[in-house]
Amino acid sequence: MGKNIVIIGGGIVGLCSAYFLKKEGHEVTVIDKSDITSGASFVNAGYLTPSHVIPLASPGMIAQGIKMMFNSASPFYMKPRLDWDFMKWSWYFHKSSTKQKVERAIPVIKDINIISRELYADIKASGDLGNFQLERKGLLMLYKTEASYEHEMEVAKKASFLGLEVSELNKNELDKIEPNIQIDAKGAIHYECDGHTTPTEFMPKMVDYLKRVGVLIKTNEAVLDMDVANGKISKVITDKNSYQPEAVVMAAGSWSGELAKKLNIKLSLQAGKGYRINLERDTGIGMPAILMEAKMAVTPMEGFTRFAGTMEFTGINDVVRKERVMAIANGAKTFYPDLEIKQEEINSAKTGMRPVSPDGMPYIGKSKDYHNLVFATGHAMMGWSLGPATGKLVSEIIDDKETTMCIDAFRPERSFNR
Ligand SMILES: Cc1cc2nc3c(=O)[nH]c(=O)nc-3n(C[C@H](O)[C@H](O)[C@H](O)COP(=O)(O)OP(=O)(O)OC[C@H]3O[C@@H](n4cnc5c(N)ncnc54)[C@H](O)[C@@H]3O)c2cc1C
Repeated sequence: MGKNIVIIGGGIVGLCSAYFLKKEGHEVTVIDKSDITSGASFVNAGYLTPSHVIPLASPGMIAQGIKMMFNSASPFYMKPRLDWDFMKWSWYFHKSSTKQKVERAIPVIKDINIISRELYADIKASGDLGNFQLERKGLLMLYKTEASYEHEMEVAKKASFLGLEVSELNKNELDKIEPNIQIDAKGAIHYECDGHTTPTEFMPKMVDYLKRVGVLIKTNEAVLDMDVANGKISKVITDKNSYQPEAVVMAAGSWSGELAKKLNIKLSLQAGKGYRINLERDTGIGMPAILMEAKMAVTPMEGFTRFAGTMEFTGINDVVRKERVMAIANGAKTFYPDLEIKQEEINSAKTGMRPVSPDGMPYIGKSKDYHNLVFATGHAMMGWSLGPATGKLVSEIIDDKETTMCIDAFRPERSFNR
């Protein structure tokens, strides 16, 4: 007999959790306060990135952050503010940014990424969602300076050591692989292991599939509170209904920290806002790329090219800062000098918030206080890549099965002070 499960949040993590739980025969309800057409799971760059083995919290990031702190047009922006949660999170981020901790995180990040990339392929092969873009052209790290090249080669060596496919492209080779647009870069590191997708295609197809197989998707319904009794969540209370599930999955993205507070659980989490600009016309760009000095992403998606980037820590809000959108448009121009981004394209920019844990690792696992609560959040810059693996792990955790990989590093109540 399947369990009656409520998933809070219908982003990529919540929907993939629903996908795998339903396959195991559970009765699943997804509750989302939005209509599931916006936010991080819609504006992201669509990369599936086993190559991104270095967590955000790494040596040098704090120094970079402090340097960029007062420049709201910089790619990495922390607005100085007297907010106790943010100050604690920053301290934990600092404590996590050691060489030793990063080295420990690298193989774990690689493993979960590979599992997830394969699960995307399985979802496609199953035909459940019909056809969707899932490409394996790899990802180019385009660089202009020697310093960027050397920095990326360090990462490339680590990736290669872990068995990931990576190669170097000089300018000639770059022009061959990307023949239809002029690129102003010295060369590229090509992570052939990576893939890409179109989130705005995948998300609605996943919603449609889930509805078809009987998952209840409640949109425009906000979870306000939860009742607890006998060490478990007894009731999930929304602005429209109340539910008495046997298990609850907290997949509320950047809002998960605030919801956890209602249960007196401290889940250190900050919203890392990013932006995207879509160009719904032929740009000639055929390869996904990270423009290293501009610190932004470019993805040829189904029917359009997306430019995405910036990491802004200004709390939970959907304010569009024009200077940050302009920084993305200007960054694109420095690498693709022939490309004109029109004012109306800039004006149509959208934002989303990455749920960022202090050590850059997701929170996946059971709550130690409430045995029917599973956390699935905090994926920061990897949430799109890791959606399927997280969903699979969530279903294994709820079914008390052996998990596909060791999830100790994702423990929701881990300490960042050590
Ligand atoms: C510009 C940008 C580029 C990115 N590029 C990539 C990339 O290339 N590859 C990659 O792997 N990742 C990328 N990411 C990160 C990735 O998009 C996120 O990590 C991921 O989308 C997070 O998914 P989620 O399901 O955890 O959260 P979300 O997508 O934020 O979903 C959470 C949902 O919970 C709902 N919710 C919140 N509170 C409540 C409540 N009280 N009641 C009901 N519902 C609630 C929200 O409405 C929301 O729909 C990028 C992010 C950004 C912003």
